[in-house]
Amino acid sequence: MKKQRTETAQKIHLAKIDANATPDFDGGKREGGEELQRLNKKLEALQELLYAEHKHRVLVVLQAMDTGGKDGVIRHVFEGVNPQGVRVASFKVPTTEELDHDYLWRVHKQVPGKGEIVIFNRSHYEDVLVVRVHELVPEEVWARRFDQINHFERMLAEEGVTILKFYLHIDQEEQKARLEARRDDPQKRWKFKPGDLKERALWDHYMQAYEAVLEKTHTSWAPWHVVPANKKWYRNLVIARIIIEALEKLNMAFPEADFDPGTIEIV
Ligand code: ADP
Repeated sequence: MKKQRTETAQKIHLAKIDANATPDFDGGKREGGEELQRLNKKLEALQELLYAEHKHRVLVVLQAMDTGGKDGVIRHVFEGVNPQGVRVASFKVPTTEELDHDYLWRVHKQVPGKGEIVIFNRSHYEDVLVVRVHELVPEEVWARRFDQINHFERMLAEEGVTILKFYLHIDQEEQKARLEARRDDPQKRWKFKPGDLKERALWDHYMQAYEAVLEKTHTSWAPWHVVPANKKWYRNLVIARIIIEALEKLNMAFPEADFDPGTIEIV
């Protein structure tokens, strides 16, 4: 893997991005799987360092259409990391208490503390995606949220949070195949919700909403990575690689002992 493997752009047409693509990786599924195993070990070591150093905070945001692979990323990319320092926060339909507050209230409570990686399985972006598509609030309300989100994320970044946002890009054909697999495979059926079909019918509306998100909230302090995600092995590989690169840039070190180890005798 050489250069950046993802698309990050100001003007974006998702239909033009090939969800089957595997840019900048020469091998196929087998080589990709082997590479991911190496990356898992690297991520495991970096996460231990992050936890030990207790200085930086890391926020990973995962957004996708239904069946896009958020759960798979959480399982495969973070395989082997120490659960003490990694947490998943899932954002579902807001509760009445959450709806009584501003939309960032429940989100802010879940941001990472020092030494922690938090993975957002869905996020505050639902408040400009599903909320927009289903007209849950008037346009004037959701339209101003892009700026609010950028400011919120900027504040987090200035306070030392590394923010990495991923849009897992599958196409409609792939979603059909994955929904059929959920319908037909007893081990996957628990994930099938008939309501997903209603959302699928709104595909174009969602794409329009996602394009607005990618254009308006792609910032230097919280960039989006559009990951071709039809091929699960490639999706995992790319995300692992980007997280590792970001962690390496933090130049972390294990804390120095505040005592002289030479003077300590263990009997
Ligand atoms: P997932 O699909 O993430 O595995 P669920 O099947 O429980 O989990 O779906 C969660 C649902 O909650 C999604 O349909 C999502 O659009 C919805 N949701 C999340 N945040 C909001 C929000 N702020 N307003 C309305 N719906 C939301």
